[in-house]
Amino acid sequence: MKEHNDKNSETSINIKKVQEELVHIMNNVKDTKLPQRAYQILRLAIRDLKLMPGKTFLEREMAEVLGMSRTPVREALIRLQTEGVVRLIPRRGFIVEPIETDDLRETYEVVEVLEGLTAKLATDKIDDQELDDLEALIDEQERALKENDLTEWAKHDDLFHFKIINYADNKRLTNVIEVHADQLYRTRLFTINKRPLPFRSIVEHRAIIACMRANDGKAAQESMQSHRKRARNEILKAL
Ligand SMILES: [Zn+2]
Repeated sequence: MKEHNDKNSETSINIKKVQEELVHIMNNVKDTKLPQRAYQILRLAIRDLKLMPGKTFLEREMAEVLGMSRTPVREALIRLQTEGVVRLIPRRGFIVEPIETDDLRETYEVVEVLEGLTAKLATDKIDDQELDDLEALIDEQERALKENDLTEWAKHDDLFHFKIINYADNKRLTNVIEVHADQLYRTRLFTINKRPLPFRSIVEHRAIIACMRANDGKAAQESMQSHRKRARNEILKAL
């Protein structure tokens, strides 16, 4: 349905094009309950920069893209707003939250310390097979970098950190880190082409694993924390 020629028209999107952008995510989200489904699709689309930071969308357009009515979409948007991912515009739609330097700095300051802690806790719990798996993941990162496939690199990098968080086996710690994970992932993707190729990450990842193998939790903690801090400085500079 065509709206009157009012101020809403400037935000109108090409529905088909956005659908094409989201088709991969839509096929992968298995939730069948509509509000949950809308939430997952929008969350991943924003995380993967399919819906770009700072961009405005109308609620009715997004409902059309997702092939559902406005009610589940609105429910999903309200949830995403409480998570700081979007900002609702009354009677219009929503803005994907832009990536703000101050916000990021605060997030990194918290997550760096917590991730350091995951490396320390994981050192006490991890076995040789799991260490081998982590090393295989670093090999994958290196291979992706050599092939200049930064998306693939980002995926394996994320998995590496995610696995260490899991090996730490502390639900509260995991929850706090996960709250910020999407935002950090989105920023990494956003800046990936504007910073030096992350070869240093490979070296630092290997150092973290070496500390774990040596059963030196304190050293693993410090190398993880400084790895994240170094990456943070690069990312903030690239923004
Ligand atoms: Zn890393």
